[in-house]
Amino acid sequence: MTALSIRSLLLASLALASASTLSAQTGSAASAGTRVARAVDSMVFKAHLEFLADDALEGRAPGTRGGLLAQKYIAAQFERIGLQPAGDSGSYFQRVPIIALTPEPTLAVSTPAPMPLTWKQDYVLWSMRNDSLVNLSGDLVFVGYGIVAPEQQWDDYAGADVKGKIVVTLVNDPGLQDSTIFKGKILTYYGRWTYKIEEARRQGAAGILMIHTTESATYPWKTVLSGWTGPQVRLEAPPSSLLAAGWIQQETAAKVFQAGGKDLAELTAAAARPGFKAVPLGVAVTASVKSAIRRTETANVIGRLPGHGPHAREAVLIGGHYDHFGIGAPVNGDSIYNGAEDNASGTAAVMTAAEAFVRSGVRPDRSLIFIGFAAEESGLIGSQALADHPPVPLRDVATILNLDVMNLYGRTTDVSALGLDQSSLGKVFTAAAAAEGLKVSTNEEALLTGSYFRSDHFSLARVGVPGTSIENGSSYVGRPERWGREQKEKYTAERYHQPSDQMQPWFTYGGVVQQLRVTVRTALAVADAPAQPVWSRSSEFREAGERRVASGK
Ligand SMILES: [Zn+2]
Repeated sequence: MTALSIRSLLLASLALASASTLSAQTGSAASAGTRVARAVDSMVFKAHLEFLADDALEGRAPGTRGGLLAQKYIAAQFERIGLQPAGDSGSYFQRVPIIALTPEPTLAVSTPAPMPLTWKQDYVLWSMRNDSLVNLSGDLVFVGYGIVAPEQQWDDYAGADVKGKIVVTLVNDPGLQDSTIFKGKILTYYGRWTYKIEEARRQGAAGILMIHTTESATYPWKTVLSGWTGPQVRLEAPPSSLLAAGWIQQETAAKVFQAGGKDLAELTAAAARPGFKAVPLGVAVTASVKSAIRRTETANVIGRLPGHGPHAREAVLIGGHYDHFGIGAPVNGDSIYNGAEDNASGTAAVMTAAEAFVRSGVRPDRSLIFIGFAAEESGLIGSQALADHPPVPLRDVATILNLDVMNLYGRTTDVSALGLDQSSLGKVFTAAAAAEGLKVSTNEEALLTGSYFRSDHFSLARVGVPGTSIENGSSYVGRPERWGREQKEKYTAERYHQPSDQMQPWFTYGGVVQQLRVTVRTALAVADAPAQPVWSRSSEFREAGERRVASGK
């Protein structure tokens, strides 16, 4: 016998040994996915939900006693079921520093002729720095939609030098004007105001003014005033060269354009045509923002179930935000914003999924990391902190499954999730749903309004991690077809972000169990797959995904 054949014999017997260990471990014919799915326990979910949604938790606002209680509870549960701490310095907690700046701005056109502008009437403006005073002045440059989209061969900043200048942008994306480009009426991330600010920062601009029009912003000026004149709450991160950001009223913008001899309507039309070039407006402005600053601190809660295969250093994230609005203005005598559905339910679901994996004994190849996200309601702050400082290097984060507002209405024949067309995760999710006998339905409205960009999975998508948020199906067992839609409308009108989002006597847990069974099957499939999910060719996150995988971090 040659050395080589002895070695291959040895390898063969090793393979046999590990195969038999595997079947001894399983002890049944059920697949690993089925075993984890069966371990999802509705009573575990219900107990967590009842605790987190209780008045004793005082609405779990960031930086409050109730928020702290929720953190400690989640960490205690992670410890009880045997997850490893995966937060800062060997703890379950990842620090999330928050800064809130309440702005008091000034803004005026300085050249060619002075033109004072009135705060709240003509514009709103807030600081992008962590300082109590910022001053800026510079030329205005109209950058159209302010988009750099390689997969659309679109670059509104091409050839423009905006360093130290103030860019003026439209909101939404060019698909609004021309349905044959971008994704037509489906809002891409490039259409969101958050994107406009990020791109302006990347380009080195000193300021950004976004033109508010009712047709493109989908919300009235009134909403701008309520959203951007009070405290601007965000993750306290190192500042960039971007000093301030704001909105400008359409009619005011038209006057400012006119001062430089430019026509806003004409330039708006030009901005939707491929090959658009940024236009210096021949107008300079001076501005200042005084800010009252308040700092608080909260924490993400992170626990790991280590992987057992060759990809153990990689991870699948399963998360949901535990924060809500705390104690606020009373409605019908109730001042506690319990956030039972939003998102005690998702937090309970994360802990229930973790316990299902532990109880099932199934240990996938990649690690599973369970997260209670902090401060989602203040603008995805906890998940952004996690994306900035991930528990494993970003290139090793295979996917994120987000749980935000679970189905407490009953069993369905279908299930849904956000952005399934964005990556190959869609296929994995569809297969997991099929294994549970569920169809996957698409939520058209979610596509049009950009729901994909509004919960914690999105903070990870932005840095290239494919992810989704699990949503309710629409066809409820034993209910008329319209019933699901009616429940959703009722939730939005009567409970969403109000003290009445609390425990209801009619909550029922068959639906959330279905969602969780699909979630754990999806997580397991990704965790055991030979390769990580990839973004679709048409996805606006593909480029970020490629950068993530190529990066050494
Ligand atoms: Zn939520």
